[in-house]
Amino acid sequence: MAKVHFYYNTETCNYERYKASRKEIILNILGFLSVTAIIAIGIIYVYQSNFKSLKESRLEAENQQLLLDWNILKKEIETAHATVGELEFTDDEIFRVILDTEPIPASVRDGGTGGHDKYSDLVDRSLEKAPMILSTYRQLDVLRKRLYIQSKSYDQISEILSEKEKMWSSRPAIQPINNKELVRIASGFKPKRFNPVLKRWMPHKGIDFTASKGTPVYATGDGRIEQMYRSSSYGNVIFVDHGYGYETRYAHLNEFNVKRGETVKRGQIIGYVGNTGRSVSAHLHYEVVYKGQHINPINFFQRDLSNEAYEKLIEISQQSNEVLD
Ligand SMILES: [Zn+2]
Repeated sequence: MAKVHFYYNTETCNYERYKASRKEIILNILGFLSVTAIIAIGIIYVYQSNFKSLKESRLEAENQQLLLDWNILKKEIETAHATVGELEFTDDEIFRVILDTEPIPASVRDGGTGGHDKYSDLVDRSLEKAPMILSTYRQLDVLRKRLYIQSKSYDQISEILSEKEKMWSSRPAIQPINNKELVRIASGFKPKRFNPVLKRWMPHKGIDFTASKGTPVYATGDGRIEQMYRSSSYGNVIFVDHGYGYETRYAHLNEFNVKRGETVKRGQIIGYVGNTGRSVSAHLHYEVVYKGQHINPINFFQRDLSNEAYEKLIEISQQSNEVLD
């Protein structure tokens, strides 16, 4: 309820109701507004000088969050570096050792990460966090290069492996006839042995396997039929060229099962046991030649025998001396 003001009228000697003029009312309102404005400005000034604006607080919070995220990112990059390090170690110390290949030189793995620093132009150096940002960019750059070299190394390993696989499948590695029971070895590889047919001492350059006529004879490694003919000494004989310096020969055959120039796989039947040429009974005479030199075929039978059976085979080959050619 509005206040009602009275004043004492000396002329009428009575208290009368006071009525303010319009000018007084306007002046009062203006005065009130001026004081209010001054107080408001004062409050804003004090607030601004002592407290951060909402926008500033929000930016600061965002900045802290970004810093936190950046540190997580940095840790992730460090973890990725450690993982690449493990891949590099496995590559150099295990894969390349197994494949008998030189490790990738450190100069290649570490190379190419120096030179002009392209990131220093991208980052505003006046920023407080510029060193941290630059360091992370550089770490990423190194990581990318390490990964690139590692992927190239895997390509190279894959090529080496493929070539080794070809070599391993070409190398003579099984017995030329089925001899798991090891009862077929008649005569081993000997530098000097009395030849029953020629009646003189001469080297026996292969291994003789006893087997009945018609027993299948297998190629002992992948290769190509290099020669296939009938000889007075070897009888029907097949020469297989395996590449990588290896050649195998299969003599006294009864029949051929391949053609000259044909490509054969390990385990493929190339002929059948016979008694042709200079031979006293049906058997297979088998030779392995490496770079022109005859070597003991016994060293190439590991693939189809256990270690125990293989040792037994060596023992038998040293004892057996049944003379067949
Ligand atoms: Zn022989």
